[in-house]
Amino acid sequence: MRKDYKVLIGGEWVEAAGGRRIEVINPANGEKVGSAPECGAEEVDKAVSAAVEAFPAWASKTMGERSKILLKISQGIMAHQEELAKLETAEQGSPIRKTMNFDVPLCAEQFEYFAGVARALTGETLPVGPWCLSCTVREPLGVVGLITPWNFPALMVVWKLGAALVTGNTCIVKPPSVAPLTTLKLGEIVMEAGVPAGVVNILTGPGESVGEALVKHPKVAKIGFTGDTATGKRIMRLASDTVKQVGLELGGKNAFIVMADADVDSAVEGAVFGAFFNTGQVCAAASRFYIHESLYDAFAEKFVAASKKLRCGDTMDMGTVIGPLAYEAHRDKVEGYIRGAKEAGATLLLGGERPDTPETRNGFFVLPTIFGGCTNDMTFMREEIFGPVVGLARFSTPEEAVALANDSNYGLSASIWTKDVRAGLAMAGQIKAGTVWINEHLIIFCETPWGGCKQSGWGKDLSTMVLDEYTTTKHIYVDLTGVPEKPWYAILK
Ligand code: NAD
Repeated sequence: MRKDYKVLIGGEWVEAAGGRRIEVINPANGEKVGSAPECGAEEVDKAVSAAVEAFPAWASKTMGERSKILLKISQGIMAHQEELAKLETAEQGSPIRKTMNFDVPLCAEQFEYFAGVARALTGETLPVGPWCLSCTVREPLGVVGLITPWNFPALMVVWKLGAALVTGNTCIVKPPSVAPLTTLKLGEIVMEAGVPAGVVNILTGPGESVGEALVKHPKVAKIGFTGDTATGKRIMRLASDTVKQVGLELGGKNAFIVMADADVDSAVEGAVFGAFFNTGQVCAAASRFYIHESLYDAFAEKFVAASKKLRCGDTMDMGTVIGPLAYEAHRDKVEGYIRGAKEAGATLLLGGERPDTPETRNGFFVLPTIFGGCTNDMTFMREEIFGPVVGLARFSTPEEAVALANDSNYGLSASIWTKDVRAGLAMAGQIKAGTVWINEHLIIFCETPWGGCKQSGWGKDLSTMVLDEYTTTKHIYVDLTGVPEKPWYAILK
């Protein structure tokens, strides 16, 4: 069923000036799913004014009051579980098995988490001396712009929106044009939960106009951004004119290291999940595989055999686990990396082509693809592919594995597979990444901080650390001496 949404500004659902709209296409079959307004700078100004106006009342609610509203949003999400899941599957292509059982329940759980954890937020009392009270208080930043990507359309909004809202900020959300509809549906749920008008505004439209107008706006205090590293760099540059805070969750090129003593079967299970979950469209997807030479052949054979079984097809069928790439140009880009890997001399072990079945013929599918015999100088081992394409390389010593893993501009995540946890921990200390998993890849919880280093960005989503991202610390000093002359005034006398 087609969904044509308006955008949310100041509690009203409105069209963009000029009435232009963005068409949303189902990448599994090329059909039109719905549309959203194509906003511009005019709507950004209106949304910022609404958010500025709504800020004082929202910020002066108690944490408990805001927290209870977040719990209602969480319940509202689960009440619309099937509708949200179907919408996300239709607009982004992620199979219904995943959106029903993973994305939507996790969105609800994360609102619950933020509702709870924010109530434990504290300031400090500082032991300066008996003549004063010196303390810190945590305050919201003001109006924040939240710019999100298409790979987990709802979840990426929730990671930021839950934390920003509960800490008392008012928000303007800018979802991706490829998949903006679940965010707009979330907007309806947010309003039904009792969020006051203007506290959450949602604007759809191109990053170059709506996104940049938000980033440049003098009344926006912070941009929370998740997306491509190149976009993150541009946002940093644009934000500097207003000395705006930016949080950047950017791309990754994540290493998966299999040590000589690894349990190969466990590593293979982790590899299939790490590489092909969400058709590899995951910032933390396992992408560069470094396998100890002693078990390279055994690992490669089992990894190929297990990946071959992944069912690719109708995304509305609960048995499908591999969906299409999210849009046609992205499919073409991923296929370009496959061609590049062949030209560079990598050996194709699996996939490398589109499936050819009636259910996939009109969509943007690419089969799980594994290359062997890879080296770090191959372009596809250095650049983020963001699709179901991985490369396997050999190493002989732990030092070499660490050097290969660190030989990247990115620093988002890595995993080490070993039975020797002590050795694994030593390696984890040497790997430059925001997260290192040992005997696991791609597992993220509300309680665990998420964010990268190097060109994967800075700042953290999730965990208690995200509360720092959406609050500022104010120091308050109270004189308790009660006397007009303080000893330190003598310096001017
Ligand atoms: P993208 O950078 O193209 O777009 C992300 C968002 O930014 C969209 O809403 C887009 O409209 C907006 N945008 C684009 N240009 C802009 C500009 N000049 N100014 C302001 N906003 C602009 O990224 P994408 O293709 O949607 O997402 C894929 C990328 O996201 C990958 O690199 C992936 O690794 C990254 N990602 C990172 C994380 C993480 O936690 N580190 C999580 C998910 C995705």
